[in-house]
Amino acid sequence: MAIKRVLHYGEPSLREPSKEVHKVSKKINDLVRDLFDTMYAQNGVGLAAPQIGVNLRVFVIDASTKEEPLEPMVFINPKIIKKSGAIKSNEGCLSFPEAYADVVRYENVMIKATNEHGKPFVMEVKGGNLLARAIQHENDHLDGILFIDHSLNRFETEEVLKKYNLPSIDPNKLLDETELKEQL
Ligand code: ZN
Repeated sequence: MAIKRVLHYGEPSLREPSKEVHKVSKKINDLVRDLFDTMYAQNGVGLAAPQIGVNLRVFVIDASTKEEPLEPMVFINPKIIKKSGAIKSNEGCLSFPEAYADVVRYENVMIKATNEHGKPFVMEVKGGNLLARAIQHENDHLDGILFIDHSLNRFETEEVLKKYNLPSIDPNKLLDETELKEQL
């Protein structure tokens, strides 16, 4: 169990696609504990393995709020199998200290993954709540996609990045989400 250094935007691991986990071994359980320790130490809602420099398909989320208490969750080899609706979301990321931006997300998602005990599960989250948005944000990390790639206003986001001394947007990474944006 250890609090790890969270990589910041600009460090290569954040853009690398992560590899599948073949077995939920002790190594993976240690990784899961490190992810939770690091996430809680930084008051984050979610953290993906590449953010601590481990390019494996694992992320953790604790989207519990006063209104909606939830258990901490572990997602290993996740796959979003259904998505619908669109919602505007103001997001931040532990790899982008203090920088927030408006992005577009699906409102409803169904995700399939394996938990920390090696048991597969399917979860459906509706209504664009914090959990629905966090699942998409963290899942993206496993493919080297960052929240700024979903930016609703590139120029505003550029300003925010500049203010916090982070590298600028990579125009080649911006996602074409015209259809999704039209649903907002
Ligand atoms: Zn993030």
